[in-house]
Amino acid sequence: MKKKVNNKKKTIIIISIIIFVFLLLGISGYLFYNSKKLKVNLASDRIVNINDEVYNTDYIKSVKNGTIVSDKQLVDTSIVGKKKIVLKIKNYFNNIEKYTYDIDIVDREEPSIDYSDRLSTTEGIEIDLLDGVKANDNSNEEIDVTVEGEYDFNTIGEYELYYVAKDSSGNTTKEKFILEVIKKKEVAQNISVDRTFTTSKGFKGYTKNGITYIDGVLIVNKTYSIPSTYYPGDITSETRSNMNRMFADAKALGLNIYLSSGFRSYNTQKIIYNNYVSRDGKEMADTYSARPGHSEHQTGLAFDVNQINDTFIGTPEANWLSDNAWKYGFILRYPKGKTNETGYKYESWHFRYVGLELAKKLYNDGDWITLENYFGITSKYSD
Ligand SMILES: [Zn+2]
Repeated sequence: MKKKVNNKKKTIIIISIIIFVFLLLGISGYLFYNSKKLKVNLASDRIVNINDEVYNTDYIKSVKNGTIVSDKQLVDTSIVGKKKIVLKIKNYFNNIEKYTYDIDIVDREEPSIDYSDRLSTTEGIEIDLLDGVKANDNSNEEIDVTVEGEYDFNTIGEYELYYVAKDSSGNTTKEKFILEVIKKKEVAQNISVDRTFTTSKGFKGYTKNGITYIDGVLIVNKTYSIPSTYYPGDITSETRSNMNRMFADAKALGLNIYLSSGFRSYNTQKIIYNNYVSRDGKEMADTYSARPGHSEHQTGLAFDVNQINDTFIGTPEANWLSDNAWKYGFILRYPKGKTNETGYKYESWHFRYVGLELAKKLYNDGDWITLENYFGITSKYSD
């Protein structure tokens, strides 16, 4: 009996010891595992401005018991909202874990508006207040500009109005501009000074309603302007049909010539020119951009093709145009090396309709004669 009891006691002690050892192993294992667990310390402020340059690892302050194995990469921050970032991290036990965290992409920047702060029209003549006006935003979204305020094209006066642009995050820009509606008579007095003259090369010219014609050809350059109210609204039908014929013939030869900029209103030109002036200064801007009222694009007789910059020079398209545009009644308006005459640097992309007869003369077997040289006129601003 005594032996039996002893045996039982022994068994209990052994079992207890085994349980104790397992418990100890378990606890120390747990403690060990816990101490070797992957711990990532994130930055608490993870708000990013739209389109900011941010890397996938930028918000990781520290990693304990692990190494980031994902490559350092730019995050696409072009869309507002929560953005999930996934990183691969190798843990203490050499396993790859996926670690995920969020950043908040926000847009707090207002759009900007390209506009002219003063528009003018004659009473009774409606103009498009949004012509040439454009909103730009850091979000790259298309943003509509609206006009705020009351005005009446039929009532003389100065109207204080606003251009308003709002992006999808609610950032709003408001820019003040003046619409001036002037009396019919005043305009008539200003611009219908009819006069006739003879150029230094004997061509007869006249100015009517502020528009100058020499030998029947409408002239716009730095000397000769057209009134702000001259508004054909598009390139003329004659210009367009000849242009389309030219483009089609080029296409048949495997060339890709397309219209980049056609008619531009006085107001559009004003916005473009003012942008260049604020970027490059007036003196520089005058070498490549026309002041409002001095752009051939306002006549509806001129247009730009393809790349509107010097990368167009020497392309098969530019070469073909230089040799063949005259056949369709067009001249290369600002040829190379003729800046002294035209007032503009070489523009391989700008063509002007003058009709076949004159275009052929000016083409001059490839040695382009400028309108200024041919007619004996200048191209210089008076100030
Ligand atoms: Zn042009």
